[in-house]
Amino acid sequence: EYDDKRKLAVIERCKPFTLSDAQLNQVCGSMMRALKDGLRQSRRDRSSVKCYPTYVRTLPTGKERGNFLALDLGGTNFRVLHVEIGPDGQLKQDSKIYAVPASVMTGRGESLFSHLVDCIEHFAKERGLRGVPLGFTFSFPCRQEGLARGRLVRWTKGFACEGVEGRDVGGMLQEALDRRPGIDVEVKAVINDTTGTLVSKAWDRRNASVGVIVGTGFNVCYVEKASRVGGMEGEAGRTKEGRAEEGTMVVNTEMGAFGEKGELEGVRTEFDRVVDAASIHPGEHVLEKLVSGMYLGELVRVVLLGLREEGLVFEGRRCLQLREKGSVPTKYVSEIESDGPHHRVMAREILEEVGVSEPTVHDCATVRYVCRAVSRRAAHLAAAAVAAVARRVERSPVVAAVDGSLFRHHPHFARIMQEKTQQLLGPGTEVELCLSEDGSGRGAALVAASVR
Ligand code: ADP
Repeated sequence: EYDDKRKLAVIERCKPFTLSDAQLNQVCGSMMRALKDGLRQSRRDRSSVKCYPTYVRTLPTGKERGNFLALDLGGTNFRVLHVEIGPDGQLKQDSKIYAVPASVMTGRGESLFSHLVDCIEHFAKERGLRGVPLGFTFSFPCRQEGLARGRLVRWTKGFACEGVEGRDVGGMLQEALDRRPGIDVEVKAVINDTTGTLVSKAWDRRNASVGVIVGTGFNVCYVEKASRVGGMEGEAGRTKEGRAEEGTMVVNTEMGAFGEKGELEGVRTEFDRVVDAASIHPGEHVLEKLVSGMYLGELVRVVLLGLREEGLVFEGRRCLQLREKGSVPTKYVSEIESDGPHHRVMAREILEEVGVSEPTVHDCATVRYVCRAVSRRAAHLAAAAVAAVARRVERSPVVAAVDGSLFRHHPHFARIMQEKTQQLLGPGTEVELCLSEDGSGRGAALVAASVR
């Protein structure tokens, strides 16, 4: 009976993580307004969602042929890729992971680019590649000024090289390549991982129009009418000569920043505020902190500590490790939710691992309940973002290419996100979320291929 009481109290404390359909519809509507503002150059600065033009105007047509290189920097690994599309349209790829030493990650910009060129040189020599166009997946916030020109806004994720912020990384890479005799490589495109994910899927699914990342970060891109994208060459959606832009363009929404103008205040819990306050950039990337792999485990940890303070879980245990920031990686959330309905094997194992000795049945059930509450809300908010973008795409079906560990490995995230996106869109628009394998590298090669 005692445990029953505590169980009800836990459920009560987790209630703020459950978002009603009315709340989600409201969030989705507010995301649509933010998208609209972000698209207008005159309002972009004031919008939480920036909607940067990518200058990627076409998706693969299937007619691309030849050899292409890609660099993938800013994800979990740094890689160099070779994509070969044969005369029959068969695509083959091979890649190699290279280390980026910590001293290079935080050293001088010149050293970083010279290291990248070392790796390209090694990779290309090994395969006898020369005169090959290159696409650069650079997964840091950039202001694009052309397909092959992206100015780094700021470093994130452990990188902090001097003298790169504010500069064009496509140009810096090209200069470093040109300084090296014997490699003849032209940088054709600088894109981010979200765009890469969309482009890569579009090679197999011509009608893909949305790209989503739910990994370390959270972001969405989509195909927009070029005439509606502000801030390219001249005025909003106009060429320098004042003509309306024709065709389409992939827009990098930077959706993870949604909420920076207070739009999520009705959704965030006291626990979210704790996680945000202890993060590297408090107040920034508000939605990302409710959705992405970098934060979900941490959120679970903070909720559990809160419940413990209130005497609702881990009674009599000191939980020393659980007090350490980062002691619950999001991978654990996936594992705990993978336990069968009445089995708590992973929950028990993981609790012991984070220093909760001899967890009780109630402890294990509570941990699972918290994980479920946190990951469901994440999937629902990600769904609201995709639904908001899908409404702008104005077609059916909307095929969205998704990548990232949370979508890929969590036992329920992908299904919940799919169901909620469809429900938010209603019966008039079909939506299909599909996993995009290895988009971040392959996509850049395919963009380089399409501009030849
Ligand atoms: P990135 O986004 O950095 O390119 P990933 O898509 O692999 O790479 O995302 C890494 C993020 O996913 C990390 O924040 C990590 O905590 C989280 N993650 C890793 N494995 C899992 C898993 N099995 N389930 C859920 N999240 C995971």
